[in-house]
Amino acid sequence: MLCPLVQAAPDMLKANLARDGGPRIVDTIMDMGPEGLESASFTESCRRLAADLGAVGADWCAAHRAAATAQRDFERACQDAGRRALDFCEAQDIPAVVVLGRPYTIHNTVLNSNVPALLREQGAIPIPVDCFPVGDAAPSMPEIYWGYGQRILRAAHAVRRRPGTYAVYCSNYACGPDSFLLHFYGYLMEGKPYAVIETDGHAGDAGTKTRLEAFLHCARGDAAAGGGAPADRTLGAVSGDGSGLGEIRRRGETVLIPRMGVPASALASCLKGVGVMAERLPLPDREALTMGRRHTSGKECLPMTVTLGALLQRLERERETPTKFAFFMPTANGPCRFGAYHILHRIVLNRLGWGDRVRLWSPADSDYFQGLPAGFDALVFTGFMASDLLLEALYDARPSEVGAGAALAVYEVFRAELLALLEREAARDLTVPSALWQAAGGACFGAADLLARAARKFAAVRGPSDKPVVLLVGEIYVRCDPFSNGFAVDRLEERGLKCRFAPTSEWIEYTDIDNVINRGPVPWSKRISHVVRGRIQDRLYAAIAGPLRWPARTTVPQSMDAGGAYVRPELSGEAILTVGGPVHEWREGIIDGVVNLGPHECMPSKVAEAQFFHVAEREGLLSVSIPLNGDPVDPQVWDSFAWEVHNRRRRRQTPSATAVGARPPVPVPAGR
Ligand code: SF4
Repeated sequence: MLCPLVQAAPDMLKANLARDGGPRIVDTIMDMGPEGLESASFTESCRRLAADLGAVGADWCAAHRAAATAQRDFERACQDAGRRALDFCEAQDIPAVVVLGRPYTIHNTVLNSNVPALLREQGAIPIPVDCFPVGDAAPSMPEIYWGYGQRILRAAHAVRRRPGTYAVYCSNYACGPDSFLLHFYGYLMEGKPYAVIETDGHAGDAGTKTRLEAFLHCARGDAAAGGGAPADRTLGAVSGDGSGLGEIRRRGETVLIPRMGVPASALASCLKGVGVMAERLPLPDREALTMGRRHTSGKECLPMTVTLGALLQRLERERETPTKFAFFMPTANGPCRFGAYHILHRIVLNRLGWGDRVRLWSPADSDYFQGLPAGFDALVFTGFMASDLLLEALYDARPSEVGAGAALAVYEVFRAELLALLEREAARDLTVPSALWQAAGGACFGAADLLARAARKFAAVRGPSDKPVVLLVGEIYVRCDPFSNGFAVDRLEERGLKCRFAPTSEWIEYTDIDNVINRGPVPWSKRISHVVRGRIQDRLYAAIAGPLRWPARTTVPQSMDAGGAYVRPELSGEAILTVGGPVHEWREGIIDGVVNLGPHECMPSKVAEAQFFHVAEREGLLSVSIPLNGDPVDPQVWDSFAWEVHNRRRRRQTPSATAVGARPPVPVPAGR
């Protein structure tokens, strides 16, 4: 699998280049498939490519066969060259240095910082990773879903165990996957000299030369000393033990849940109801951020740093106690970095001596509710949805509340009632039939009634408002965590705006759909769960939307439909939602602008930021993309955005509104 930026490149290029008279962009999706060049999905991709290239009727099968043979011959020749180089180094007692990295980096003399030439100059033999024979000397590492990442780490595993052979990792600034892979590389190479050379293409040789000199000095010393301690590390050892809720409950561990928005408390309440000790970590603060930064490089996504810091801050209080914990950190199957978080958490916890006291509970995005009692997932989802809706109601009522604090007071009362309800319901009969009845019957474990009562209370404290409405979208953790997003909602409300936000439950609705689109047929049990969740969503939304006169709920299919003009649905991840949700709501006249909140260097957020320019051109939607790294946001960013929202709103409301900011009729997106 390739990272989101590479996968989205055709959409971004197309939006820029495929203008009148511009070049035709051939952006066939090439799906390699597990069996490689002969796989059914790759063969089918080649057929589609031939058609997209206009080679209709041509014998593309023969071309495919010839290309596959040529590729295999080339790969064989590379491996043979690598073996000869290794044998030569052994015979001549010369350090063999495997140059790790992606082909477009290590074979490009700018992006590889001239490492191969400098190594030769200093008496070593550089061997590109694609020539280094790994074979079965390394485990397959399925937990690393990036193709190049797997190849690099498997080679590192093999290099660590081969005397006289060393490695240099050529990476590029702001490479998302490398912000984690470099940690895993260091973990695997521990006990043997290794180097990392990172470039943005601007650096001269001097710095690289010095670093390679130092590295080779250590390598020669290591070789002379007969090589370091025997290797014993594997990535598998830190990639999660597949613990489920059953084992955690049986061992009496306390589940610590990172504060990913208000639903985190709902999960804690549900777990307590089924007899699992659970605790939601508090809102992160500067101390938590500092602790997280102490054990990360600053290149990882902010949620990684903040969740790690908040965990370590909490564990500090347990140094002298015997308590055991399970840290809830779901995983994912790519293409983004989230699926690598739990591995880095594990490495840091082991390094800090928490290895035997803190376990990782990491359900995958293919089934977040794996290992939970049958009806439990329906209750948890109800908790997520209801928590989001109460918060949405607070943001709706607060900007025009009849008295200071009135809306928050209503919110706190019903939030507490919801958490108590979830804990109570979790202790009841949570079989599939009861869950189906709760969804089909519409009671939703009592949450529907709770939301209807809350809505009436919110309506009573909400005064008339004509404030412009902005939608907060972007990376799920950051957009739902006030500390990480610079308290965006407060800042925007202070500037006379009203906020809506893309709810956490949107991601669960999306993964259900994405699993079908990008991962093929799903079992009936999952389809039923998806239908049940859909019913719960609609029922709970209706319960609160009625009294508050909210517009129809923006569904994920609607967001994907609107976003599909800018980001292809085959690209798994938030980008299509981050763009599509606001485009849909802008077309429906629900919002006046959008704030795209994402961690610094967040890949889907960058894709969305790039496409928002074209959304503005084509549809007139005003957006601001704010990259976040935990440091406060410059107030001017909020000032200028709020000013522009108010200004454009005023212009739209002025009878002789000019084009700028005017809401055009729904355009037919160009190009796609
Ligand atoms: S979506 Fe952004 S923050 Fe999340 S894993 Fe991907 S790059 Fe990191």
